[in-house]
Amino acid sequence: MDSPTPIQEIRLPILLEKSVRLFIKREDLNHSLIQGNKWRKLKYNLERASFEGKDTLLTFGGAFSNHIHATAALGKQSGFKTIGIIRGEKPEIPNPTLSDAEAFGMSFHFVTRSLYRDKYNPDFIEELKQTFGDFYLIPEGGTNEYAIKGCGEMMEELETECPTATHIAVPVGTGGTIAGMIRNRKNIKMEIIGFSSLKGDFIQKDIRKLLDNDFPNWSVNTDYHFGGYARHTSELIEFVNRFKKETKIQLEPIYTGKMMFGVLDKIKQGYYPKGSNIITIHTGGLQGIRGFNQRFGNLLVE
Ligand SMILES: *Cc1c(COP(=O)(O)O)cnc(C)c1O
Repeated sequence: MDSPTPIQEIRLPILLEKSVRLFIKREDLNHSLIQGNKWRKLKYNLERASFEGKDTLLTFGGAFSNHIHATAALGKQSGFKTIGIIRGEKPEIPNPTLSDAEAFGMSFHFVTRSLYRDKYNPDFIEELKQTFGDFYLIPEGGTNEYAIKGCGEMMEELETECPTATHIAVPVGTGGTIAGMIRNRKNIKMEIIGFSSLKGDFIQKDIRKLLDNDFPNWSVNTDYHFGGYARHTSELIEFVNRFKKETKIQLEPIYTGKMMFGVLDKIKQGYYPKGSNIITIHTGGLQGIRGFNQRFGNLLVE
């Protein structure tokens, strides 16, 4: 087994004031080439692809996607060819995510947004097979049963490393990561709260579907999306920069920054009882900062 990622304590005046302790599980340090939950999500998919005798991985994502980046990197490392079906037009100025993925050997196929929306349509998949030959398909964001299994291991590590944890906070996109954590949690007194990066309440239902069973004591907070997926405000950017200055921990504005903002805001509001031990998950995604700064003009201090 890989060694568990470290859990660090965060020290900020508000935590003393509210008598809670805050920790961060450094999943961003879990792999030399890529980091974060995308490694957990891909690990068993790669195993499955080998088992099925496939030599090519095909997956889907946006032009700044951590999942595209991770699939390209791990594909190269594990000897798979990789194909990325990318939403929208090819960017005129190459962005760092796609440039890296290309350097790792990924081939791209850019599709219109409407085609992308219908990407799991069997006719489209068949067309892709005609074009690219046989492949192992990994869904958008990597979320499938193998991803959920991989993310569950994060929970096993966490419960061993920190059995006194009372609350877990995790960023949510497609919900695969939190689903794995909910499913593998043994101590059901530990409350799991997801912080959604997307606008809307559909996510609870999506996660319930991924779980295929009823589990207690979890929820998703949808108050900290800052305008929706990949949207940001100056308040969020200032928070990410300030958090780095005060804790030396780099977050990014798409997922981890929104979650940490939400957790600290809830702490301020007194949501967590005195004596709580809150563990946040640093799901990685730091590769996206270069593209973010390229697009928006170096807002984030690196
Ligand atoms: C993809 C991603 C998430 C969201 O994970 P889901 O399993 O889709 O909910 C969270 N944080 C980071 C950094 C990511 O790259």
